[in-house]
Amino acid sequence: MNTAPSDEPGLRMHSLAAELYPLCRSITGDGVRATLQRVSAEIPLALHEVPSGTAVFDWTVPEEWNIRAGWIKDPSGNTIVDFADHNLHVLGYSTPVSGRVSLTELKEHLFSLPDQPDLIPYRTSYYRKNWGFCVPHRLVESLRDGEYEVFIDSDHKAGSMTLAECFLPGETAEEVLISAHTCHPSLANDNLAGIAVAVELARHLIGVDRRLSYRFVFMPGTIGSITWLALHEEKTANIQHGLVITCAGDSGRVTYKETRDGNAPIDRAMRHVLKTSGDDHRIAPFHPYGYDERQYSSPGFNLAIGGLMRSQHGTFPEYHTSADNPDFIKPDKLADTLDKAIQAVEILEGNACYLNLKPKCEPRLGKYGLYGGAGGQRSGDFDELALLWVLNQSDGTRDLLSIAEKAGMSFRKILTAARALEGAGLLAKEAS
Ligand code: ZN
Repeated sequence: MNTAPSDEPGLRMHSLAAELYPLCRSITGDGVRATLQRVSAEIPLALHEVPSGTAVFDWTVPEEWNIRAGWIKDPSGNTIVDFADHNLHVLGYSTPVSGRVSLTELKEHLFSLPDQPDLIPYRTSYYRKNWGFCVPHRLVESLRDGEYEVFIDSDHKAGSMTLAECFLPGETAEEVLISAHTCHPSLANDNLAGIAVAVELARHLIGVDRRLSYRFVFMPGTIGSITWLALHEEKTANIQHGLVITCAGDSGRVTYKETRDGNAPIDRAMRHVLKTSGDDHRIAPFHPYGYDERQYSSPGFNLAIGGLMRSQHGTFPEYHTSADNPDFIKPDKLADTLDKAIQAVEILEGNACYLNLKPKCEPRLGKYGLYGGAGGQRSGDFDELALLWVLNQSDGTRDLLSIAEKAGMSFRKILTAARALEGAGLLAKEAS
């Protein structure tokens, strides 16, 4: 595979997802560690191992699961299913097995999709001990009577669950949490695309001045965020904003899932970005199902964490099947999701109330190099109407985002105008 680094974020994200795709991840185990180690080559990442058996609120960190092999041989001795071909073939957290079974017994341990007979489903059995294989339904239908040999070389033992964090300090302790789940094996949109977008967002933020601090967490879904919250409760006080990034690379429209209260700065920011994008999009109200926003938004924490995704889980036919592969995610869609996240972050960073320092009638913009009309000396790339909006509205009570909303302009345009006015001494930021 050619994984030459690219300057183009979309290609770089797709390449990272494709490279991580073959690793067999789960809620614990070496596939997660290998994934996080690869991510740590892109951004600074601190890995934490939480021992099996650790009590976390109402839950317990499970035994660590690792798998080395798994196959089924038909009555003639031909290998008809092999974990080496696709890691979705073995039920996640499957117990080991080795022996001969009848077709009837085998079928009790086969998972398939009658409606999508060529695809391998993704199934797990974390909390009920079971062994099993996931296979195309067409294969199930083709099986003839006889004795089958089944073999799964896996183990559950006291080990640990691996969580990872990338913390980027800013000028203030006010924090943005970006969360991506790491527990799915060979599935691209859900959620290697989310991991790739989070990595690229971190890379972008490393290169810019930050007012806010950022905490990126990469953890298994549900048990990972529950564990992180249980072990780091004191850190949650600074978390004022956040996004759970999932299913970030398919060709569907961007969806933003609102926070529990629906009126946080991140809600305003994402709604504005999507509305001014001109792209088809969906704003989904909060509901207590989905990904780790469920844990962050539980009433004991009530963190203002929204969900950024393209197609929502369960709404696309490739979801949780072998069709969710690297071909299903597109570099330009990954880049589009990233761009919308970056724009939302720019709003969180830059939104503030300003004060017009010459509020009595309009200042003569030409004097300040801010008027581009005939004969004017224009010195920057800004929109004149945006200048007028900012000057008119900046009485110290209206923030730039509300001005952008009122003007029907992008926040970027309004922010650029505000910076130009500030540079000309016509505008000053209100102390917050
Ligand atoms: Zn999933």
